Amino acid sequence: MTDKNYEESLEKLYKEVKPVETAKDRFEVPKVEGHFEGNKTIITNFNAIVSYLRRDPEHIRKYLLKELATPAVLEANRIVLNRKISSAMINKKIEDYTKEFVLCKECGKPDSELVKEGPYLFLHCLACGAKHSVRARIV
Ligand SMILES: [Zn+2]
Repeated sequence: MTDKNYEESLEKLYKEVKPVETAKDRFEVPKVEGHFEGNKTIITNFNAIVSYLRRDPEHIRKYLLKELATPAVLEANRIVLNRKISSAMINKKIEDYTKEFVLCKECGKPDSELVKEGPYLFLHCLACGAKHSVRARIV
């Protein structure tokens, strides 16, 4: 193998490997999509966000209700907030939710589950096994 070939094959390898790694390591919660209806805010991809976070939609609903201080109603695939709220604000709250209830505080990985033990709620990391207590009652 000549040096040139070696360089070429390295470059090829790098190109092939890099996108796979980024896709795998990157945890990016979908941004909210939706619109206003009168004074209400409708988020139409709520289900996609919920299934990406792998959390109970009711738990996220309560969180948004509390954090945005507005009634929030689940309707099939969407959530309806009872006032006009910018998508930036909602994205920020979902990001906060992710930090508090999804990402492991030890390793930062999102492979986790919420475990209830008596009155307490724990974030259990399936990647490293760490367990942290989190707010059991949002509202
Ligand atoms: Zn972990």
